[in-house]
Amino acid sequence: MSDAYDPSCIFCGIVAGEVPTELLHASDSVVAFRDLHPAAPTHILLVPKPHLRDLSELGDGHAEMLTDLVQAATHLAKTEGVDESGWRLVSNVGSDAGQAVFHLHFHLLGGRKLGALG
Ligand code: 5GP
Ligand code: ZN
Repeated sequence: MSDAYDPSCIFCGIVAGEVPTELLHASDSVVAFRDLHPAAPTHILLVPKPHLRDLSELGDGHAEMLTDLVQAATHLAKTEGVDESGWRLVSNVGSDAGQAVFHLHFHLLGGRKLGALG
């Protein structure tokens, strides 16, 4: 397992600034930007900078990064105006979950009534 930059990964390209994308948030460990194909009025992707394939590659050393990401999501929910109406943070792992980009990311969804999980 390696968390190095992967030149074939679209999210590594966005993190590196090689794929022009408007960032809504950037810190030492996380970036956030709008999903290309929004599934809700608010649909933001929160992406840890290291190239980790999915949640299963998180280790003890990533705790601070994950806290940073959840705090960024909470902040963005406020700036999007969905903090009171409600929002969801979800990460897909593998094919049954519909994962299409194999660089760990979380979807922040809100702005409409979200369906039941599954
Ligand atoms: P997954 O299905 O892997 O959980 O989600 C991947 C998400 O990334 C999809 O919702 C897709 O619309 C989004 N996406 C894929 N490529 C790009 C891109 O180049 N830019 C942006 N902003 N979103 C992307
Ligand atoms: Zn990557």
